[in-house]
Amino acid sequence: MNIMPNNLKRQYELNAKEYEEKALEVLRSGWYVLGKEVEAFEKEWADYIGVKYCVGVASGLDALWIAFRLLNIGHGDEVIVCSNAYIACVMGITINGATPVFVEPDEYDNIDADKIQEAITDKTKAILVVHLYGQACDMDKIMDIAGKNNLRVVEDCAQSHGNTWKGKVVGSFGDIGCFSFYPSKGCGAFGDAGCITTNREDIDKEARVFRNYGSEKRYHNKVVGTNSRLDELQAGLLRVKLKYLDSFNEERQRIAERYLAEITNPLLRMPKVRPGANSSWHQFVVHTDARCELQDYLSKKGIGTLIHYPIPPHLSEAYAYLGKKRGDYPIAEKYADEVLSLPMYNGMTKEEQDYIIESINEFKL
Ligand SMILES: *Cc1c(COP(=O)(O)O)cnc(C)c1O
Repeated sequence: MNIMPNNLKRQYELNAKEYEEKALEVLRSGWYVLGKEVEAFEKEWADYIGVKYCVGVASGLDALWIAFRLLNIGHGDEVIVCSNAYIACVMGITINGATPVFVEPDEYDNIDADKIQEAITDKTKAILVVHLYGQACDMDKIMDIAGKNNLRVVEDCAQSHGNTWKGKVVGSFGDIGCFSFYPSKGCGAFGDAGCITTNREDIDKEARVFRNYGSEKRYHNKVVGTNSRLDELQAGLLRVKLKYLDSFNEERQRIAERYLAEITNPLLRMPKVRPGANSSWHQFVVHTDARCELQDYLSKKGIGTLIHYPIPPHLSEAYAYLGKKRGDYPIAEKYADEVLSLPMYNGMTKEEQDYIIESINEFKL
């Protein structure tokens, strides 16, 4: 058997005809950037997340840095983020000149909310909450700390499309929610795309202007903006995907439940879901001291796995200028050495699941 860590073709095939019809409809419309598909998608996504506004942009990274720009967070400011974040989260902070302040993750692979308070200084302006691997962070504690310290909250929901904290969908808690619709994400486009969500009318207005060269009225530019527009083709295809997002999340939940119940190899520590959170299982991440051996073993059996992520941001070459060294964030460093993402995708057959579970259970050192 040959099993990929993620298999986008399978998900496409589940509803191929609808995507193809929508693509043709957009191609034949003669209108390709910021049009009625984008408008409709923005409305549908805002409704789905449970916020007043959604503004489509070109990628998840754009959503992040535009969010911090609109919140006026840049040079001289600090933003708190988990030390095991994806590099794009940190770039979203630093593109505007702000400094990331790392806080270690807990046993749920998400920021340890009990360690946030001690990281706050008089320069701290915001918390970037990364709902990693599809699981919501502890939003009760985080919103409470943010409120007490007058901090803005930006949520990175790139990996968490539609999952909840105590029944409320993530991306609706903070000042701004940032989403990536990169193809591998829960509601993935067929190219790059992203959006921000917010209940703040001022942010909605400013984001619409900022993403389009800072112009409200054509050739009248209010601010130095950027080109980060969502195109009609992606928006149209995302509208089709969105109809199936809940069923995609449910299907991955069923696969995760099988993994959790049936993988019994003591060499692996299975992912835990925080009480109050649910997971959309963007990744199914196990921890193991024998990561290298397990990955090689599975690869020889035709089972592909990925590592999210092998280098924590503070040790990345790009962030050498922060002056951090190995040992500064020992939990993130340990996680980077032991995490492994098992295959997880929509359209995974029962036989594939059986084979993965059996193979892992037979693994020994
Ligand atoms: C994918 C991702 C991003 C970046 O999104 P792009 O659309 O690739 O720019 C940011 N944060 C997290 C957590 C992600 O998984």
